Amino acid sequence: MLHVKNLTFSYDKSPILKAISFKAKQGEHVAIIGESGSGKSTLLKVLYGEYDLDEGHIFWHDEEILGPKYNLVVGYDFMKYVAQEFDLMPFITVEENIGKFLSRFYPEEKQKRTDELLEVVELTKFAKTKVKTLSGGQKQRVALARALAKQPEIILLDEPFSHIDNFKKQSLRRSVFKYLKQNNITCVVATHDKEDVLGFADRMIVLNNHKIAVNDYPETLYKNPKTPLIASFFGEFNVINNNIVYAHQLKVVEHSNLKVVVKHSYFKGHYYLIEADLHGKALFFEYSKQVSEGSILFLKVIEDYHI
Ligand code: ADP
Ligand code: MG
Repeated sequence: MLHVKNLTFSYDKSPILKAISFKAKQGEHVAIIGESGSGKSTLLKVLYGEYDLDEGHIFWHDEEILGPKYNLVVGYDFMKYVAQEFDLMPFITVEENIGKFLSRFYPEEKQKRTDELLEVVELTKFAKTKVKTLSGGQKQRVALARALAKQPEIILLDEPFSHIDNFKKQSLRRSVFKYLKQNNITCVVATHDKEDVLGFADRMIVLNNHKIAVNDYPETLYKNPKTPLIASFFGEFNVINNNIVYAHQLKVVEHSNLKVVVKHSYFKGHYYLIEADLHGKALFFEYSKQVSEGSILFLKVIEDYHI
């Protein structure tokens, strides 16, 4: 189990992270979310032992994770970290980059393991390609495979799919997170993408104002987002009578006391996002059809999340 106790950290004077405490069990998947600059990357680096803490402790089981002041070589065998900026060896191939971390394996075993990892990150076809010729997204996948090579007990992923195009992202995400679950690897992932959280994360931690704003099940936070910050992570929303209402929770009805004037329809694929005016304020809802500007519609809030 990862146990973070009352962690406070600053690069210089003012703390970036204040009194952070949380736990992650073996095999558990914890997502760290928060706005850009909220300290997600810093938290992962601190968990990895890259910096010394101002206060607090980090434990993996019984072992304390220590910063450079107490630990000559940064990092531990049981923990791997994939940074937002990954550094690979550009002049050797994809499989050689992965294999570098498997030096203690017998050749046959090493090849088998490399092949397995190439499959997880969907790069089998690129095994013999030199890393310098790969795209940003492909490099990110090599970095992932390399971190998994020596089967860590815990992996820290910083926006792991941020460079990967939408064509690949969905299946790669399923493949990587499935691999981590199957191998009981604890995963702490910093992300601003709800797709990395819903359907995969066991817990979701929201960083705001240097602190943990909430730590709960993603489904609980999705269904009952207590603050606009949490709601904004999941999608378009409105605040109506102090309640947070997602755009998809507003339904067009024949008549109601929620009367709006349509401003714009945005094509979103299987629906339109309609921007409308309610007493001089913008209001967003989803609708199956395009609506012309100036049309008057009546809306009703529905509790159901699946429409
Ligand atoms: P996030 O990953 O959530 O976008 P970061 O952890 O990268 O946030 O940054 C949190 C804050 O720490 C930001 O204000 C950033 O400018 C600052 N910061 C990040 N790295 C350093 C550093 N090496 N030295 C000083 N300040 C830093
Ligand atoms: Mg970051």
